[in-house]
Amino acid sequence: MKYIGAHVSASGGVFNAPINATKIGAKAFAFFTKNQRQWRAKELDSKTIFKFKEELEKSEILPRHVLPHDSYLINLGHPEDEKREKSLNAFIDELKRCEQLGLDRLNFHPGSHLKLISEDNCLELISDSLNEALRQTCGVKLVVENTAGQGSNMGYKIEHLGYLINNSIDKSRIGVCIDTCHLFVSGYDLRSVEVYKETMNKFDTIVGFNYLMGMHLNDSKPALGAKVDRHHSIGEGKLGIEAFNLIMNDDRIDDIPMVLETIDNTIWDQEIKLLYSLINK
Ligand SMILES: [Zn+2]
Ligand SMILES: [Zn+2]
Repeated sequence: MKYIGAHVSASGGVFNAPINATKIGAKAFAFFTKNQRQWRAKELDSKTIFKFKEELEKSEILPRHVLPHDSYLINLGHPEDEKREKSLNAFIDELKRCEQLGLDRLNFHPGSHLKLISEDNCLELISDSLNEALRQTCGVKLVVENTAGQGSNMGYKIEHLGYLINNSIDKSRIGVCIDTCHLFVSGYDLRSVEVYKETMNKFDTIVGFNYLMGMHLNDSKPALGAKVDRHHSIGEGKLGIEAFNLIMNDDRIDDIPMVLETIDNTIWDQEIKLLYSLINK
């Protein structure tokens, strides 16, 4: 089964996320458990937690089909110890928030070398941060996302994700999220049966579909390999509808949250319907 939704707003309180998801006919959703542009956040109080769980139950969306996203400020591969530590603490705090909300996974971007250290060095630092986060928390899975390859961001090669999985001290609590726009602009094609097979077989060999714990369904404004992160509405961009047709009919991609981060949130309900309509019965 496919569980499709969108990255919905949680403004006014995290309990608004499942409410907003229901409004657009979503069967999955992503959201920020705190303001994504600030380091500090008020602790979740018991009333808010209760209300979130209540609304989630009403929405009939399962906790494993919810994919919270961490703050954009966090850089687990920061070359400076002090700043990396600050990021790690914020990351651990976010994992604990997910746990409090009864959720089982947290989506994050690997990190950036800021052109101060090598890519290999940065990956090592990220891996160490993840292992420390695993030691200091329990239950919640770390779901690392592939990136567009813009600036000095790591995660634009499938090998980067493979490295983080292979070096994880707890393979039961690490997974990946594929963002289709990021995949395409970082140079992996999905636009025909042949290239889709090639890209996905590569993913299966280096990472493995058993580690796939979420997807971001985005079309792309830039061309293949442009390494620029600009999402577009489904079927409107350079990636095109055939890629989504292939994804929707890929049995290896099942029972995970698949969420839109497309640019026009007024048509999310239609995009969700469109994606479901692609499934061959
Ligand atoms: Zn994404
Ligand atoms: Zn993006």
